[in-house]
Amino acid sequence: MASRYDVVIIGGGHNGLVAATYLAKAGKSVAILEANSEVGGATTSVRAFPEYDAYLSRYAYLISLLPDQIISDLGLNFECISRKVSSYTPYVRDGKELGLYVARQWDQQTEDSFNELDPTGNEWAAWQDFYNEIAVFAKKIAPTMLKPLLSRSELKDLIGMPDAWRYLIEQPIGEIIQARFASDVVRGVVLTDGLIGTFASAFHLQANICFLYHLIGNGTGEWKVPKGGMGALVKELHRVATSAGVTIKVNSRVSSVKTSSSQATVVLEDGSEFACDYVLSNAAPQTLAQLRGTEPPQSLEGSQMKINILLKALPQLKSGIDPRLAFAGTFHANESFSTFENTFNDAKAGVMPTKLPIEMYCHTLTDPSILSPELQALGYQTLTLFGLHTPAALFDSDNEGAKKLALAAALESLNEYLVEPIETVIAAVEVKSPLDIEGDVGLPRGNIFHKDLSFPFREDDQNPSWGVETDDPRIFLCGAGAIRGGGVSGIPGHNAAMAVLENYK
Ligand SMILES: Cc1cc2nc3c(=O)[nH]c(=O)nc-3n(C[C@H](O)[C@H](O)[C@H](O)COP(=O)(O)OP(=O)(O)OC[C@H]3O[C@@H](n4cnc5c(N)ncnc54)[C@H](O)[C@@H]3O)c2cc1C
Repeated sequence: MASRYDVVIIGGGHNGLVAATYLAKAGKSVAILEANSEVGGATTSVRAFPEYDAYLSRYAYLISLLPDQIISDLGLNFECISRKVSSYTPYVRDGKELGLYVARQWDQQTEDSFNELDPTGNEWAAWQDFYNEIAVFAKKIAPTMLKPLLSRSELKDLIGMPDAWRYLIEQPIGEIIQARFASDVVRGVVLTDGLIGTFASAFHLQANICFLYHLIGNGTGEWKVPKGGMGALVKELHRVATSAGVTIKVNSRVSSVKTSSSQATVVLEDGSEFACDYVLSNAAPQTLAQLRGTEPPQSLEGSQMKINILLKALPQLKSGIDPRLAFAGTFHANESFSTFENTFNDAKAGVMPTKLPIEMYCHTLTDPSILSPELQALGYQTLTLFGLHTPAALFDSDNEGAKKLALAAALESLNEYLVEPIETVIAAVEVKSPLDIEGDVGLPRGNIFHKDLSFPFREDDQNPSWGVETDDPRIFLCGAGAIRGGGVSGIPGHNAAMAVLENYK
């Protein structure tokens, strides 16, 4: 006989846990069915190297999009820590090793660094103008994320910045970056936010969407370090979900979903059945389509390498900057605007880049707690390396061989700016290709957002919605593949719970 719940959730990623807790707190009986042996999905911390007592955020590593409201609504004892440094980008000019340093709160060192790169002062002025505009835009858009979707016109009117709306929403982001900045280095730093996890040219609107989500989190767009690593968030979500009465079943892979006019039925691989009023899919829309036997949505594939590194010590940089500054924020290497475009075109043509565009940061400079006291005393540090423009297709014929090439290309990029090669201080390293990420946590083709991100509004001719609905009134998306999903945010989890609760009214 089928077990019965008000709501059954397919998948126990962080969004499934958020949705479940909101529903349980509203008095609904909820079961989460998770395929893996642990909840968390792409938000987990693991002891990646058995011989070292270090818990690395294996996939997602920084948080910006998780609204403070969700933390307080759910009573999460979880903290994100600000980084002193926003970014550091080494570059070479006339044979001289230099670097663009940007503090989180722009300071004299930031201004001096821009002026060293461009003595006219134009790039520094352009930087301030651009990001000050975006800061206003972000403050207006952020409060809409936990409400029913506004229409395109409603959101445009609410924001009231027609110029910024045009260049952020309507015109390819590459055009405004080229128009407002002259330096290839600065252009690349700006563009990176449009390409994280998005295999696109700077002149494709998909880059605009990715850019937007990277700049609006909590109204500031600040990317913070999860204290204790990503696993700390999941641990807290697990705690509040179980204390609200949510049933969580791990090692429970869902194999099909069916609905009738009176109920929905979720079936596991072992044949056990769960009947419910509503099904929420934390699994990707492509996976849900398989489970329902419907046509999967089209999407770009994942395009990132995630490389987790344990270091015996931080490497020294040729530019002479203190590595504790250079690696505290986002370190960009080989990420100029023109390199991004060239690498994108190469990768699209099936060629693994020889030098990967990479961004990286050292978690332990802000939060050493993920290392044992012994490793801390020895001076160990972690490096999180996120390589761009390595689409899943490059790994299809020989995943392990392609990973070796991609790792070498990533380290080559970094080594260009180091006094000694990074290999001299690496204690341990693990490499995750898009295919590994699909195999480990089920992100289709390794797409970190499940499927292509969407702008955070509905078109004017579409019906009001929360952005989580499907063509079946008993099935909702509660994961990254919903509109306004993607990233560590809990937003689609919250919104799916609200949509279901409205149905019970
Ligand atoms: C390498 C990498 C780095 C990233 N970095 C960041 C970052 O720094 N910051 C950020 O904000 N975002 C980042 N992201 C994106 C972010 O991690 C994801 O978008 C987000 O975690 C998705 O959360 P979710 O809960 O919606 O889905 P998921 O975390 O994908 O969880 C879905 C769950 O469903 C389960 N599942 C799937 N199919 C079934 C089935 N048939 N039956 C039962 N269970 C099933 C899966 O096992 C999984 O646990 C990164 C992602 C990756 C991969």
